[in-house]
Amino acid sequence: MSRVFSGIQPTGEPHIGNYFGAMQNYVKLGREYGKQSLYCVVDLHALTNPAAFDPALLAQRTLDMAVANFAVGLDPSQVIFFVQSHVPEHQELSWVFTTITPVGDLERMTQYKDKSGQLESVPAGLLMYPVLMAADILLYRADTVPVGEDQTQHIELTREIARKFNHSFGETFPEPRAVYNKQALRIPGVDGQGKMSKSKGETSTLGLFEPMDSIWAKLRVAPTDPARVRRTDPGNPDVCLIFDYHKLFSDLDTIQMVDVECRRAGIGCVDCKKAVMTGITAHLTPIQARGEELRDDLDSVRDALAQGAREARAIAAPVMEEVRTKVGFLKL
Ligand code: ATP
Ligand code: MG
Repeated sequence: MSRVFSGIQPTGEPHIGNYFGAMQNYVKLGREYGKQSLYCVVDLHALTNPAAFDPALLAQRTLDMAVANFAVGLDPSQVIFFVQSHVPEHQELSWVFTTITPVGDLERMTQYKDKSGQLESVPAGLLMYPVLMAADILLYRADTVPVGEDQTQHIELTREIARKFNHSFGETFPEPRAVYNKQALRIPGVDGQGKMSKSKGETSTLGLFEPMDSIWAKLRVAPTDPARVRRTDPGNPDVCLIFDYHKLFSDLDTIQMVDVECRRAGIGCVDCKKAVMTGITAHLTPIQARGEELRDDLDSVRDALAQGAREARAIAAPVMEEVRTKVGFLKL
């Protein structure tokens, strides 16, 4: 039986990269897989990045992340949606996996290198992040994992951990595959500094719930093709992040118009940015309205999370019990 799992960290405001890269596929696969699809706000992971972790904000961000997913169309009564720390088996399985994962493999992970490079003191948890992620997925014997392209390496490591466990202790886990949105593999940050990321803060992100004037303020100053200095210079949309956003938010006619007109200097960058703003407004306004409604009834969101944790645990508990038996823990 096929099963879906994915997680999202409560490390800040959810952004259009999370939405197009991952959350849209949660909704799509959720409709297909129903209760065989599990989505998780991974609060244990959020502790691993000291640059983004704040105990005073964690609970609120966790709730906000649930609201965001429900606002884009995920229905908690149709799928299993829960909070990672509410299912303690994640940590227990993770520990077992740390004992079969070479430190060298973890040190090679690009996300680890990126995130640890910005820290003076690197917590061991940041290094162990992909092991916990492998436990998240394999605890449910999930074989399908909707993620952005930045998670490819972690999924490959998850496959290796599954293989190694199966080899040492007998066939237990499937080797999961990643599912991407090919149109949104890695959405660039609006500051032009690489991938849009929650933990990089608001200069990088266009938030799902960000007011339109704030989004426009960032777009207005966003870098475009650096070779296009004057309005009369021809531009290259292929190296312009605004064109990446057009491909997500604009209709086909607008995308084609921008592609042609930018190259022959027929449209200036400001007008091009205004055009993408139209698509952004059309897309995000209904999501923001739905988010407002959900925030007016947070008790229902909490109830949904409690129910989700019960449903997740019902799957996790027997798998963990099987692992305990296979590694040889004493039973009384
Ligand atoms: P952080 O900076 O804390 O790592 P993040 O923005 O990278 O936050 P995550 O919670 O780590 O978000 O990832 C949630 C999902 O969103 C993952 O599947 C990830 O691959 C995807 N994702 C994150 N950023 C992007 C992006 N810029 N483009 C496409 N997918 C993305
Ligand atoms: Mg991330």
